[in-house]
Amino acid sequence: MTESLYRGRTTRDWQAADAAHFLHPFTDFKALAARGARIVTRGEGIYLWDSEGQRIFDAMSGLWCVNVGYRQQPLIDAATRQMQELPFYNAFFQTSTPPAIELAELLAELAPPQFQHVFFAGSGSESNDTIVRMVRRYWALMGQPQRQVIISRWNGYHGSTMAGASLGGMPGMHEQGGLPIPGIVHIHQPHWWEHGRRLGLSREQFGLQAAQWLEDKILEVGPENVAAFIGEPVQGAGGVIVPPESYWPEIQRICDRYGILLVSDEVITGFGRTGQWFGCERFGTRPDLITFAKGVTSGYVPLGGVMVGQRVAQVLIEKGGEFTHGYTYSGHPVACAVGVANLRLIRELKLVERVRDETGPYMAELYRQLQEHPLVGEVQSCGLMGALTLVRDKGTNEPFAPEIDIAMVCRGHCFGNGLIMRAVGDRMIVAPPLVVTRAQLDEMAALIQRCLDLTLADAT
Ligand code: PLP
Repeated sequence: MTESLYRGRTTRDWQAADAAHFLHPFTDFKALAARGARIVTRGEGIYLWDSEGQRIFDAMSGLWCVNVGYRQQPLIDAATRQMQELPFYNAFFQTSTPPAIELAELLAELAPPQFQHVFFAGSGSESNDTIVRMVRRYWALMGQPQRQVIISRWNGYHGSTMAGASLGGMPGMHEQGGLPIPGIVHIHQPHWWEHGRRLGLSREQFGLQAAQWLEDKILEVGPENVAAFIGEPVQGAGGVIVPPESYWPEIQRICDRYGILLVSDEVITGFGRTGQWFGCERFGTRPDLITFAKGVTSGYVPLGGVMVGQRVAQVLIEKGGEFTHGYTYSGHPVACAVGVANLRLIRELKLVERVRDETGPYMAELYRQLQEHPLVGEVQSCGLMGALTLVRDKGTNEPFAPEIDIAMVCRGHCFGNGLIMRAVGDRMIVAPPLVVTRAQLDEMAALIQRCLDLTLADAT
């Protein structure tokens, strides 16, 4: 284990400079300045260390991305070699670079067979912006330029750019900046605990009902005006909402019926998180487009993109002429070299199979045990994504009053006890690195149990 690079300054120094100059994403700037940021200095495997030397169990894989864990030498070597050889060249003007070609080839090998082409971007948000332009371009080339509308879901998350935040269904984001942009409409999410339970439906009945909301919206907008439906196989930032098994097959049927493109936003669910390479394989859909980012490089360097299925690719290639869209960093050679090393490592370590057969089912078992806790009303998991819903009364599943912000209380205890979990509404969620072992999952469950106990003590 190496010494931290950052020994010259104290935590207070870092915090003061941070507060003076750094505006953080999704942050109340003033509140953070008053409190002081946690300064994270080092990572190894599934653990992080902060500037106070505290070891932290990173049960969120950074931000759902560090799939292979921290400090993996093959990724570090790939970045170093590529930086030395060719740190940057673009993919505009009929040029290409070996790492971008290799990554495109490898993605085509790993993705479902209808995907033979990829368009690279720098992030998940840029990838979803690409989706909006690409599907509208597709329909224009198909002689149906009026097909402009994209349907997505409330409480979905598709990024933070104008199009990404518009596709997303986060009211707090729409309130700032006059969103959504025109041509994007939303339907309710397949969240059984929130909607189906209250409607008195079983999970499977509710899955069909939630899919029906798509058909209703299509008929309301007019099928001839709808370009695409986009959704995350499992909503991540919305609180790890695992849909009923009946949901996605029905969505597929509806998209097929009206000829609407299906877009699977796999920024979180891609590259093994659900126990398959892509979440669409776990839920049995055949999307026309897949957005990815995060896990493609395990977050070591920024990279995103769109896998373009043959239905769309053939039209863009054969009829499209120039697609007037792209980014300076589309196909960045260092990012792509790290992507290749990362995906090869996932394959070599058999992480996808491990999540499917071993760690995913084991985490589900640990979560079933956590359901016994007096604060926990419901548990959900899918592969290595998990959620606990906190309730005031386990008998009636009555929630806590919103002003108590129970999940934030719990998150505070996680913070103090060396565990990173995320709070969303009244849910506590995890998505540990795919390299996590059974013993480490035991450690995670014990930490969660302790934090729940401390939260319960506060709440009673
Ligand atoms: N799509 C999904 C499903 C995401 O979870 C995220 C980020 O969390 C994004 C898109 C946006 O990705 P980025 O933050 O890389 O722009």
